[in-house]
Amino acid sequence: MGAFVKLLFRNRLAGFGAVVLGVIVVLALITPWLPLHPPNETVTANRFLRPGTPGHLLGTDHLGRDLLSRLLWGTRLSLAVGFAAAVIAGVVGAAIGIIAGYFGGRTDNVTMRGVDMLMAFPYILLALAIVAALGPGLMNALIAVAVVNIPFFARNIRGITVGIANKEFIDAARLSGMGHTRILLTEVLPNVIPVIVIAMSTTIGWMILETAGLSFLGLGSQPPQADLGSMLGEARSAMITAPHTSIVPGVMILLIVMSINLLGDGVRDALDPRLRSGALTRPLPATQVARKSVPEVPARPGLLEIDALETQFHVGKRVYRAVGGVTLELKPGECLGLIGESGSGKSVTALSVMGLVASPPGVITGGAVRLEGQDLVGARYERLRSLRGDKVAYIFQDPLSTLHPLYRVGDQLAEAILCHHGIGRAAAMERAVKLLEDVRIPNASARARAFPHELSGGMRQRVAIAMALANEPDIIIADEPTTALDVTVQAQVLALLDELRRERGVAILFITHDFGVVGQLCDRVAVMYAGRIVEQGTTREVLDDPAHPYTRRLIACVPELGEGRRVMAAIPGLPPAVDNLPDGCAFAPRCDKATEACRTGEIALEGGARKVRCIHPEGSVREATA
Ligand code: ADP
Ligand code: MG
Repeated sequence: MGAFVKLLFRNRLAGFGAVVLGVIVVLALITPWLPLHPPNETVTANRFLRPGTPGHLLGTDHLGRDLLSRLLWGTRLSLAVGFAAAVIAGVVGAAIGIIAGYFGGRTDNVTMRGVDMLMAFPYILLALAIVAALGPGLMNALIAVAVVNIPFFARNIRGITVGIANKEFIDAARLSGMGHTRILLTEVLPNVIPVIVIAMSTTIGWMILETAGLSFLGLGSQPPQADLGSMLGEARSAMITAPHTSIVPGVMILLIVMSINLLGDGVRDALDPRLRSGALTRPLPATQVARKSVPEVPARPGLLEIDALETQFHVGKRVYRAVGGVTLELKPGECLGLIGESGSGKSVTALSVMGLVASPPGVITGGAVRLEGQDLVGARYERLRSLRGDKVAYIFQDPLSTLHPLYRVGDQLAEAILCHHGIGRAAAMERAVKLLEDVRIPNASARARAFPHELSGGMRQRVAIAMALANEPDIIIADEPTTALDVTVQAQVLALLDELRRERGVAILFITHDFGVVGQLCDRVAVMYAGRIVEQGTTREVLDDPAHPYTRRLIACVPELGEGRRVMAAIPGLPPAVDNLPDGCAFAPRCDKATEACRTGEIALEGGARKVRCIHPEGSVREATA
């Protein structure tokens, strides 16, 4: 709730609307206790007094009635009627929409055709017809406005429900034996309530206007009862001689409708889960940086050095230490594997390199990332932008979500090229086709005209690789690029990456959770656990002779062909939550060799080319230290 209010007021206009509407509603609520003239007290001697007359702050109307009093009582009535109409239309319309959308078939057809019939009449004509049939009066005007608005809700909610009714979680509910009523109430309704609230908050202003319109025509509230519409209607004849009688209710209608609409827009944005989880918080173009000190630049800079990098997520009062001092070096043409369980901080490390971690909540709190000696952490956005995709390119896990669904893959490739090289569209397109050939896509010139959904998963990942190669980068960061693929396609993609690396000398930072993949592709490997590197060395050394108990257990989880029967030992327990890391070694709670010393103080990452962060290492490292 607090987060909702905060989001809402971040939108200044919505905040303004909320304040104005709040004042009006409070005034309307306390009207009976305010020291006002009775709203219907006629004093013909005081006709058309100007605003500011003592005793009549806003003047009087053609019967000498106090305008301020009538205005407040009228506002009270108009708000109540508009709100009631919105609630009725919302509830009835949503019920129709949910039932039609959920049951589908004939139910859907019959109810929605009925709704269509209502919709076929011009709006105001239908309202007039209903009032004509029921007779004039505020209650009947309310019914008319509600009925006229039902189709809007029914149509909207039906559309949403149809989308939800085919989702797996509804099937799961059905399989678990829930009845229709229960599914509708506990599974469907919670998902459409935000939409109902939003539709209501954005239409309530309309409904107040419509009620006022009917009253204006003399079909709503009956004299002497005041509502905003009837006040306007009565003032019509004196529009020129006593304009204040129309201006006073007119301005009030304007204020109410405007503030409701501004607030409604704000509510809509703040309730939308997609907007709420990011778009409204406006992520910065590059990750925020708050470093206390900057590590020294070494005398001989390498290609890419990640130096004691610390990236955290600051969510409210909580601090998630996703990356806690990672040091890695990538040499030209080398493939470095970064391996670890899900949640160990691999992706955040990779995204930090180019300042791609979403901020807020991401903050780089320490360390440096040097590309050929130049620090990228805290570099100007223009510089990062010119490097992204040009010097350093990314391949992500799921190519379907990284490719734009509405553009042809060739155009997307060409765009990636044109971002960095002004070579003209035709030349870029030609290069795009060439790239598709490079990644072994058969019939590349035809495939360039395909949309992402027309390609298979392996093809799409090839397109993503082609895109990464588009500007001939020095470094490719591949974040689990084969996890979404099946084994044969995975093998093809790995072979392709390996070949490209050997042909073009691209350095690859290859992120995975699979030691089998590391063994095929990487020269060196770094093992990550709870945001830190726990072991590092050449792939052979680490695979054949793991030193950290965690690495050993991880490797033991990989099945091998022809090895005979063997118990696959899963690592007991779970990785620690990064907002509450234990003291000492983060793996100690799951480690069978842990001693008291493991649970206190800082355990350093020791060694030269072969590094281990453990005081009880295994294998040859243990013999070396013993
Ligand atoms: P992986 O190794 O699977 O790629 P990530 O790098 O994606 O793991 O995540 C590392 C840690 O950062 C996880 O423990 C995750 O909970 C945390 N994290 C990631 N994004 C956020 C976020 N927006 N807010 C809070 N914590 C986050
Ligand atoms: Mg990841």
